Amino acid sequence: MSEYSWTEEGTLYSEEYSDLYFSDGHGLEETKHVFIEGNNITARLQENDLVIGELGFGTGLNFLATWKNWADNGRAHRLTFISCEKHPLSLSLLADSHEHFPELAELSLQLRQKWPLTETGFHTLEFEQGRVVILLLLGDVVEVFKQLEAKVDAWYLDGFTPASNPEMWSEDVFKQIAWHSHKGTTLTSYTAAGFVRRGLKAVGFEISRVKGHGKKLHMTSGVYQGHVKNPLSLKPWFQLPQARKPQRVAVIGAGMAGLNCAWSLSRLGVEVSVYDKHRKPAAEASGNLRGMMFPMISKKPDRLGLFTEMGAAYSLNQFKELGLSIEEGLLEFAADERKEQRFQESVKRYSPDYIKLLSATEVHEKFGIQAPCPAMWHANAVSLSPLEYADALIENGAFELFLNSEVFSLQEDQQKWLVESRHGTKEYDCVVIASACESTRFVAGVPLRKTRGQLLELEREQFKDFPKQGLNFINYLAPVDKNKCLLGATFQPDDEDESLRVEDTQELLSTLHSFFPDMLKNIEPEDVSGRVSFRAMLRDYFPVIGPVHDDRAYQGRYADIKHGKPVSTYEPAVYRPGLYLSTGHGSRGLTLSPLAGAYLARQIVDGLSILPVEHVEAVHPARFCIQKLRKNK
Ligand code: SAM
Repeated sequence: MSEYSWTEEGTLYSEEYSDLYFSDGHGLEETKHVFIEGNNITARLQENDLVIGELGFGTGLNFLATWKNWADNGRAHRLTFISCEKHPLSLSLLADSHEHFPELAELSLQLRQKWPLTETGFHTLEFEQGRVVILLLLGDVVEVFKQLEAKVDAWYLDGFTPASNPEMWSEDVFKQIAWHSHKGTTLTSYTAAGFVRRGLKAVGFEISRVKGHGKKLHMTSGVYQGHVKNPLSLKPWFQLPQARKPQRVAVIGAGMAGLNCAWSLSRLGVEVSVYDKHRKPAAEASGNLRGMMFPMISKKPDRLGLFTEMGAAYSLNQFKELGLSIEEGLLEFAADERKEQRFQESVKRYSPDYIKLLSATEVHEKFGIQAPCPAMWHANAVSLSPLEYADALIENGAFELFLNSEVFSLQEDQQKWLVESRHGTKEYDCVVIASACESTRFVAGVPLRKTRGQLLELEREQFKDFPKQGLNFINYLAPVDKNKCLLGATFQPDDEDESLRVEDTQELLSTLHSFFPDMLKNIEPEDVSGRVSFRAMLRDYFPVIGPVHDDRAYQGRYADIKHGKPVSTYEPAVYRPGLYLSTGHGSRGLTLSPLAGAYLARQIVDGLSILPVEHVEAVHPARFCIQKLRKNK
C-alpha cells in the first residue's frame, strides 16, 4: 500500500516514490504548458478526434485540464484519454488533490462518480455523452501496455521523476510508447533527462529540448517517425480488422446485447437500425421482471473474473447515467465450505467499499436475515428492471427500432450488407448480430448452447418474511417491488422445453427452503407462476463478441497450426467485411453486454480496443475454429 502526505501548498506527495504528484503551487499551469500546449492539443482537437496516452494517471489533473480545454474550445471532436496507473488513488485523495482547482471542481466530481473501486483491469469511463472517454489501464505500465490494442496521437509522459521512478522510464516502456504510436504522434514530458531523450530517440522519436515551465529551463518534446516494426500483441488469427468508420449499421436483436451495441454506436455518431422479430424489445432472456448485475469474485485473479469486474464497473456507471431506478447491493452466500474458503481468500484483494465478508451473525444484525452461513456483501452489485433498462436505452439512444420485424435474409454485396425484412431490403455498411442462440441462423461455427432457465414469481402473501434486498445463494432471490419477488433460475443446458415444470418449481422452492427455512410459507408448487427463457451460452463461459472470420480462409491459412510453427510466421486474420457478433452472454447479460456494446462500437468505428488483449482473444468469434484446427478435427 502506498503512503501519502501533503505539502503546505496542498500538493499530494508519494512517500513510496519520494516525489510530488504535480508541481507544488502551480500544477495546473505546468500541465497546461508542458502537456496541453506542448502537444498543441487545442488546435488538434479542433480538427480531429484525438487519442491521448499518458504514463501515470495519478490525481487525474492532466486529464481534467485536458477535458476542460476540450469543453472550453468548442467540443468539436471526441477526446479519448488512455492512461495507466499502478496505484489508483482513493476517492478522498482524488477529492483533496483537486480542491485547489475550483475551475475543475465540476469535472472532478464527475470523474469521482465514475471512478472504479478495483485495482486491476481496463476501465472505460465515459463523460459528455461518450464524447470524452478515459480508458484507465490499471496495473504496471509495461504489463498493461502489452495488453493494449490502440494507437495514440499524443503522449503525456508523467511518471514521477526518472531518478525516483526509473521503472517508468525504461527501455521497455519506450518501446511500448513507440509501438502504440503512428507516424506523427507527438510526446512531451517535463523531464529533460539525457537518458530519457536518448531512449526515446532510439525507438524512433525525433526529440527536441524546449523551454520548460516557470523556472525549469528545459522539457522534452518529440514526434514519432514511424520506422520501428511493432511486434504482435494479438495472435495473427485474432488480429482485429481495420476500423470501418461506417455510416449505417444494422443490429439484429433488441435484447440487452443488441440494444447496447446500438446505444454505443449511436453515441459515436453512427446511424443505427435495430431489428427484432418480437413486438416488444427485450422479449426473451433479457426480459425477466428483475435482473441482477454483479461481478464474479474468483479465488485468484482470473480472466473470466476480471472480465465480469470490468463489465460490472461499466454497467454500474451506465445505469446511473441513464437514471435507472436501481437497487444497489447484494448478499452472496457461501453455499458450501469451498465457497466460503474462496470468499475468504478473494476478499483480501478488494477494498471493503467494494466487497466485504460478513459472518452469519453480521448478516443477521445488518439485514435481519437468519443466514445459514457467511455471505459476501457486494456494495456495487445492482438489481434492476431489465424492461425499464431496455426502454431507457431506446429513449436515450438515437437509433431506429424495427419491432415485429424478423430479418429474413442477410446478404453480402460488394462490402455492403443487404438486410431483408418486412420493411423491404435495406443497405448497411456493417451488421451486428445479437440474436442470442438464433445468431447461428446467420453465422455458422459458434457452438452456442441453449440453456433453459425457469424462474418463479412469488407474491408477498407467500412469504413469512419478505426480503428487502437481492440474495444470491445457489439460486437468487430478487425483490421486484413491495409485492413481488423473483426466485430463479434453473440452469439446464440443451433443454428446449418451454413449459413451466412443476418439478423445477419444487426444486427451486426446496433449495430456497434449505437456506432460509423461515422465509416462505407453505406453498404448493402448482400455485406458483413463473417464466421460462433460454440463455445463449458457450462452454468456456465467455461471450462471443467481435468480428466474424472467413471460415474458408482460416481453413487455408491456419491448416497447420497444430504443428507449433512460430506464431509470427502466420498471415493475419481474414474477416467477412463489416460483420460482427455479440452473443453468448448467458446469465450475465446485465454485467457483460453493456461493456460488449461499448467494445464493439469503438472497434468498428475507431479500430481501438477498450478490452485487454487477453480478453479480445477470449471473446473472439474465431476461437472455436482455431480450437478445432489445433485439434485438427
Ligand atoms: N498525471 C498525473 C496527474 O495528472 O495527477 C500525475 C502522475 S504522478 C507524477 C505519477 C503516477 O505514476 C503515479 O500515480 C504513480 O502511481 C504512477 N506510477 C508509478 N510507477 C508506475 C508503474 N510502474 N506503472 C504504472 N503507474 C505507475
